[in-house]
Amino acid sequence: MKCKLCNDKAVIKLKAHNLSLCASHLLAFVERRVKNSIEKYGLFKKDDSLLVAVSGGKDSLSLWQILKKMGYKADGLYIHLGIDGYSDLSLDKALSFAKKLEGRLWVVFLKEIMNLGILDLARTLRRTYCSACGAIKRYIMNRISIEKGYTVLATGHNLDDEASSLLGNLLYWKEDYLRRKSIVLKSEEGHLVKKVKPFFLVSEREIAAYAVISQIDYIYEECPHSRGAKTLLYKEILNMIEEDSPGTKLNFLKGFLKRSGKVGEEKRDEKPVKYCISCNYPASGEKCFFCSLLERVNPSGSIVYREYSFLR
Ligand code: SF4
Ligand SMILES: [Zn+2]
Ligand SMILES: [Zn+2]
Repeated sequence: MKCKLCNDKAVIKLKAHNLSLCASHLLAFVERRVKNSIEKYGLFKKDDSLLVAVSGGKDSLSLWQILKKMGYKADGLYIHLGIDGYSDLSLDKALSFAKKLEGRLWVVFLKEIMNLGILDLARTLRRTYCSACGAIKRYIMNRISIEKGYTVLATGHNLDDEASSLLGNLLYWKEDYLRRKSIVLKSEEGHLVKKVKPFFLVSEREIAAYAVISQIDYIYEECPHSRGAKTLLYKEILNMIEEDSPGTKLNFLKGFLKRSGKVGEEKRDEKPVKYCISCNYPASGEKCFFCSLLERVNPSGSIVYREYSFLR
C-alpha cells in the first residue's frame, strides 16, 4: 500500500476519505483538519488564551501538541479524580508530556478539595460515576478558566465521541442535550467560558495513529469505570456501520449539526437561570451543585490549583 500523496509506504488507509497515507502525511492530514475546523467554524483566534483539558490519553495530549505547534498560547489542566491505579498513572503521563512540550500544566486533586475521590462523591450525589464525574470536571474546568483568565476551554472530544453521544441522545430523545449539542458553546462573562472541540472531525483511529507516529507517551488503559458504559456500545455499533459504509460517522454528525443550526453555531452550555452566590456558576438554587456538595462533605474546603510550569 502506497501513500496517495508521495508514493512512500503507507501506514494507514482512511476509507472515509479514500486516502492511504504515509506517516508524515498522516500527521499533516490531522493537523490540517484541526486547522480547517478552527478557521471554518471560528472556534478561536490567534490572540485567544486556551486551556486544554488533559486526561493523559491520546486525544487530549495530541490536541495540546497540535495547538502549541500551531503557535497558540495553550496551557493544560489535569484533574486527579482519586481513582486507584488509574489517576496516578494518568497524572504521570500528563506531567511528563507537559515537560516534553515545555508547557504549563494546572493540576487539581479532587481529594484535596473534597476529602473524597470521585467514587465516594458519586455515591453522595446519588449519581452514576460518569454522570457525577462529568459534572464535577465541567465545573472545575470552567472555574479555573474563568479564575485564571483563559478565554477558551478546548477538549479532546473526537468524531467517535461526538457521533456516539449523538446516537445515544437520539435513541432516548434527550431533547435538552440535542438542543445544546454543538462544537462551540458560548461564553457568558464571569460565569461560563467558551468551550470548543477542535477534534470533532477527526476520528479516534486517526488520532491514535497521530499519537503513535508522534511518539506521544499516553495512557493506554481506559478509566476502569468506562467499562460497560453505553457510549462504548454505541461506538462499536457505529464502527460496524462505518466498516460497511465508510464516511457514515462524519455524515451523521455533520448532518445533525447542519440541521440543528449552523455547523459552527455557538450555543449555551446551561440555561441562564440563577447564579451561585458563592462562585457565580449557573445554579438552580442559591448555591450551585458543586458548592452545595463541598459544604456537605468538606465545609472548610476550597478549590486548590497546583501549577507545574515547564515554560521556557
Ligand atoms: S469513564 Fe471514568 S473518567 Fe470518564 S467520566 Fe466515567 S468515571 Fe469519569
Ligand atoms: Zn506520503
Ligand atoms: Zn457555586
